[in-house]
Amino acid sequence: MKYEQPELPYQRDALAPAISAETVDFHYGKHEKAYIDNLNRLIKGTEFDDMDLEEIIVNADGALYNNASQAWNHIFYFFTFSPDGSREPGGELRAAIDRDFGSFEKFKEAFVDAGVGLFGSGWVWLCRDTNGKLLITQGSNAKNPLSDGLTPLLTFDVWEHAYYLDYQNRRADALRALWDIVDWDVVESRY
Ligand code: MN
Repeated sequence: MKYEQPELPYQRDALAPAISAETVDFHYGKHEKAYIDNLNRLIKGTEFDDMDLEEIIVNADGALYNNASQAWNHIFYFFTFSPDGSREPGGELRAAIDRDFGSFEKFKEAFVDAGVGLFGSGWVWLCRDTNGKLLITQGSNAKNPLSDGLTPLLTFDVWEHAYYLDYQNRRADALRALWDIVDWDVVESRY
């Protein structure tokens, strides 16, 4: 097996009540694991076996793209959170957020709106373009901004499997709750 699922850097109940231990058990323990298992199965004995995960995402399509991208997205998502990180961005990232969105509050509102407004399954992203400008993007299903030459900084999963156990149909509530567990030191390190 080329790719191993990384252990979470926190206990499974550490993100509650924003994300319950039960949701972590299913979302991390079953969904993320399945994408990584499928990825390993699909690359075995192919030209993709020697590529790193980002290269696979940029070069693959179909089932391999979907599973590689979903593996990457979920690892990125779960490593964004922490029970006791910085709850506000600082430094250059904060300056860029103020510049490109008006304020941190306005950014959070626009980000949740983009997540709520995405029809069906997918991801909402904060990305940096090659000029350093920040932008919020929506991606359906497994879509990853690396395919568009953007640098992902933050993502919220808006697939129903990410929130249905805790919030049922209330996607906006599920997304807003995530602000309580985002570790902005992690997001800043990606910027
Ligand atoms: Mn998910």
